[in-house]
Amino acid sequence: MAQEPQGRADGAPQDDCLFCKIVAGHIPATVVRETETTVAFRDINPQAPTHVLVIPKVHYPDASALAAAEPTVAADLLRESAEVAAEDKLESYRVVFNTGSGAGQTVFHAHAHVLGGRGMQWPPG
Ligand code: 5GP
Repeated sequence: MAQEPQGRADGAPQDDCLFCKIVAGHIPATVVRETETTVAFRDINPQAPTHVLVIPKVHYPDASALAAAEPTVAADLLRESAEVAAEDKLESYRVVFNTGSGAGQTVFHAHAHVLGGRGMQWPPG
């Protein structure tokens, strides 16, 4: 779980959440896909030729909290990650869920990073 305080955990939009503002259209983003439950948009600071964030429209602080509360929406993130990769014609790609600040999470609204278009190292840094 994320270490940051997050208030309500019922999926409701949070006034102070950057990604809730993107879902609401209050902050612009380069949206590549949208479904009833998810939005996918290009990362503002891409770490690979394809770097897309797939987020649920509901607010949960990280992927684990989302999976616990709304497992079908968590599955939607995986399905949409594959769709993003297919649309960008990626033969291989990486899906990352940074969970907790120690793992590099900076935005505490669940999201999948879809990264591809270049060679990658393992283990990640
Ligand atoms: P995290 O570090 O939480 O796993 O990932 C958050 C991601 O959100 C980072 O890769 C960061 O570049 C991206 N990001 C932060 N602010 C914005 C923004 O305003 N627009 C977009 N498109 N991406 C953002």
